[in-house]
Parts: sequence; C-alpha cells; structure tokens
Amino acid sequence: MPSTTRVAIVGGSLAGLTVGLLLRDLGYAVTVYERSAHKLEQRGAGLGFLPDAARYLVERCGVDIDDVSTSTDTIRYLNRDGTVAHERQVRYHYTSWFTVYGRLLEEFGSDHYRVGMEAVGFDQTDDTVRIDFADGTSTDAELLVCADGVNSVFRRQLLPEAERRYSGYVAWRGMVPEEALPRVTAAALGDAITYAFYANSHILVYPIPAPDGSVVPGHRLINTVWYRNYDEGGDLAELMTDDRGVRHDPTLPPGAARAVHVEEMRAHARARLPKVVADAVTYCDDPFVQAVYDLEVDRMAFGRVCLLGDAAFIMRPHAAAGTAKAGADAWALADALAASPSIPEALRAWEPGQLKIGRDLTARTQRLGRASQVEGTWNTPTDDSLFRLRDEGP
Ligand SMILES: Cc1cc2nc3c(=O)[nH]c(=O)nc-3n(C[C@H](O)[C@H](O)[C@H](O)COP(=O)(O)OP(=O)(O)OC[C@H]3O[C@@H](n4cnc5c(N)ncnc54)[C@H](O)[C@@H]3O)c2cc1C
Repeated sequence: MPSTTRVAIVGGSLAGLTVGLLLRDLGYAVTVYERSAHKLEQRGAGLGFLPDAARYLVERCGVDIDDVSTSTDTIRYLNRDGTVAHERQVRYHYTSWFTVYGRLLEEFGSDHYRVGMEAVGFDQTDDTVRIDFADGTSTDAELLVCADGVNSVFRRQLLPEAERRYSGYVAWRGMVPEEALPRVTAAALGDAITYAFYANSHILVYPIPAPDGSVVPGHRLINTVWYRNYDEGGDLAELMTDDRGVRHDPTLPPGAARAVHVEEMRAHARARLPKVVADAVTYCDDPFVQAVYDLEVDRMAFGRVCLLGDAAFIMRPHAAAGTAKAGADAWALADALAASPSIPEALRAWEPGQLKIGRDLTARTQRLGRASQVEGTWNTPTDDSLFRLRDEGP
C-alpha cells in the first residue's frame, strides 16, 4: 500500500493508538488526532488485560506480558465474614490504562500524534473524507477511523438514533498502594482477584501495576471496582454533580465526588463488605465514579469511515473485554485492508465479524449485570462470568 494513502484516526487512547500502529505497519500515512490538549498522562485505572488487548505489544514490540501487567491464578469469592465462599483456578492478567497507553504511545511516537485537535464532524465523497476540527481547521484522508470513545461525535453524526442506555448502576473505583494497606489486608488481596456479593451489588479487587510501572508484589496498587445501583432520576444526577454544580458523564473524576457521597460510600463499605475488601475501598484517598451504559450499533462501516472500540459498542465491564474488543476491531481492520485494495470494500468485509463480537459480548455482560444488580443470582464463578472477549474461550 503506498504511503500516500492517508488515514486519519480520531481519538488517541488505546483503540486509536492500536489501530494507528497496525495501519502504519501496513504502510499507510497515519495521523492520530486527540482532543485533549496534552498527552493523556495518568488517566484511568485498572484493566483486566486480555490477549486481544495485549497483542500489539506482545507480537509487534516483543514486550513480555509480565513486564506490563500483574497476574493472579485464583478467582476468590468471599463471604461477608471474610471466609472463602468459592475459589477457582484461572490465570488473569491486569494492567493499568496508563501503563498500556504509555507503551503504545512510545511506539507510535509524537510526530503524527496531534493533541488539542477536537474533531467536530466529517464529510465524505467517493474518494476522500474531510474531517473538521473545533479550531476551524480541517484535513483530508482516504480513511477515517473514529476511535473517539463513549461519547463519539461521529457515532452521533452517523447513527443519530443510536442512544446510550443507563444500566441502573455505576462503578465506584479506586486504587491504593499495597504499602498503604494493613499488612493482613495486602496479603489477603494480593494473590487473587477477590469478589464479594450482597443484595444488588458486587465488588471486585485485583492488583495492578504501580504508577511507575512496577509489578513487584508489595509495590503494586490494589484496584477496586464496586458496582452500586443509583436510580436514573435524582440519585444518579446528584452523585455525578460536583461541588461547583457541574454534571459529569460518564466519569466523575478523582477529587470531584462530593464529600457526602464519599462518606456514604465508605460507611456502606464498612457495613456490608468483608473487612479486607472494605479496607481497600476506604483507604483510597480519591475514589472516582463511572456510570455504566449499554450501546449497541447495527453498523460500524460507512463508506470510507468506520467506528471502532467504545465509539461503536459500549459494553458493561463485567467481561473486562472493552480494550480487547478495541484490539480485535483493530487487528481485523488491518487484515481486511491488507486483503483488499479498496477501502470501502475492506470496511464492508470487516464489519460483520466485529458486529457479532460486540453483540455477543453485550448480551453476556447484560446477563451478568442483571444477575448481580437485579436478581441476586450471580454468586459463584461460572464459565459465563470469566473475563474473556469471545464466547468460545478465554
Ligand atoms: C467501570 C469500568 C471498568 C472497565 N474495566 C475494563 C477492564 O477491566 N478491561 C478492559 O479491557 N476494559 C474495561 N473497561 C472498558 C474500557 O475502559 C474501554 O473499553 C476502553 O477504554 C475504550 O477505549 P477507546 O480507546 O475506544 O475509548 P476511550 O479510552 O474513551 O478514548 C477515546 C479518546 O477519544 C478522544 N476524543 C473523544 N472525542 C474526541 C473528539 N471529538 N476529537 C478528538 N478526540 C476525541 C478522548 O479524549 C479519548 O482520548 C471498563 C470500563 C468501565 C466503565
């Protein structure tokens, strides 16, 4: 493919960088446009790290997965009194958003990573796409990949009828250094992914790399993800509004949660969760909140334009597969473009497989969400509840 074929990627997070690297490897002239004014330092938290998410770093950069992720071999469900309800032996890897982002960006370089570029729309002809930015500039490309996440401006333009639906719950999230926890707590949480369930709620806790990338036990962070139900009307709006009256959506960032909500959350943790799990929650200084949404699309390819990652599907996080879905979208797109000289044809060939992965994953994660947050029937580590992208295996 001649390097004069220009690819514009809007959104410079994990999906955008992965697809950018893969298409550049194919010989395209790739530029990534990111809205944030600076490189995205220190954003995000822990991630279950599945093979499709790690694949570029492992296969193309020779990265040893154990250098960029922590791992555990045990899934452990605790009773309220801290005794073990169930254990199952499964190896999982975990990382942090900033560990993977930093490594991918290092690989991509900054020459064609344009920050402070907020895309506001596009227009396409048979031969090219023009992308318009908020600063009044525009650029042309032969392929536009929209990797602009949950609130994708391009999804709104392409599929105005596709609406996010609030799941009925949010994730309270936090991270705390292992060193800051009581020794007994750090030891209890460091060697497994720990779950606790009670009426209409569940929490999971696992170790992730430290901000400096260290994966050495004792120096990692302990990451908590606690799913709690908030009514869509008053409760959710009240929670997601900061002290200055600003409503955040879908993420209430660290430091923005009002004291009354943080105090309620910590008191609830002490009252309802096993002690070691409550410790991990309450020792965290700056918890943050992500509202959980569903969004399914029926198209991802539109001529010379495609939607990828969270810009296409928003899936509940229970399979830990969001970044793996983005990775799988990116690898399949590179394969389709390598196989077909025509960009619109390649996108058409690529679309059905990615729609199927998104639909299957949406169905499974909705099933898990209902079982935990509504029906109270998820309380053992079933095959359905394992972290994985596809139905057929990890
Ligand atoms: C509670 C919770 C837990 C999760 N846990 C996991 C997990 O364990 N494992 C996992 O794999 N996934 C997990 N996910 C999902 C995962 O975080 C997402 O799937 C993933 O981050 C999506 O990456 P992305 O690059 O598509 O989107 P994003 O990371 O949202 O990136 C979009 C980028 O586009 C930029 N942008 C937006 N609009 C514009 C614009 N107009 N112009 C230019 N740039 C723009 C943004 O600034 C951003 O950098 C979780 C999600 C939640 C809510």
